[in-house]
Amino acid sequence: MDCCKVGKLILTLRQEKGMTQKALADAMNISDRTISKWERGVGCPDVSLLRGLSDILEVDVEKILSGDLRPNDIDRGNMKKIKFYVCPDCGNILFCTGDNEISCCGRRLTPLVPQDEDSYHRIHVDEIENDYYVTLEHEMSKQHYITFAAYVTSDRVLLMKLYPEQAAEIRFPVMHKGELYVCCNKHGLIKKLKNCK
Ligand SMILES: [Zn+2]
Ligand SMILES: [Zn+2]
Repeated sequence: MDCCKVGKLILTLRQEKGMTQKALADAMNISDRTISKWERGVGCPDVSLLRGLSDILEVDVEKILSGDLRPNDIDRGNMKKIKFYVCPDCGNILFCTGDNEISCCGRRLTPLVPQDEDSYHRIHVDEIENDYYVTLEHEMSKQHYITFAAYVTSDRVLLMKLYPEQAAEIRFPVMHKGELYVCCNKHGLIKKLKNCK
């Protein structure tokens, strides 16, 4: 542990929270002299205090230990980098646009890798009134069905959840240039090859 780096990080996070040394010390049931020592790099927090510190400052223990809170990826707002995740336990659908660590139900999730359409996962798009009418000739049984569809443009993600026994059809409002994804519970994420207009 580099006490100087750790101390600087604690100082920064404490100030972000608008807490005084005394307030942080009180929250942790320790003396404010201890906080002052850490922040000056004179000593590092005892391992037994890290959990409490991480809860109050709302950062991972690992981040405190590394003394470094650099963002994961400076490009992290880029919608072209969107990644989808589905939790195998609860079915939760998550997405992010950076190299974040995504977890659910206590497991770290790996991003779904988009595949091309195949004959069974062909995505048809018709423009009806002001909507894209998206259909698939895919079964919608409990064992095998389309779980969600997502339309991603440079500034928004529209996600539609589907359920078994429904029809495999979704309507999205027509938006400018975007990319269309569908997800099958057995075959994973499929990206439409030709972009919508
Ligand atoms: Zn989950
Ligand atoms: Zn399928």
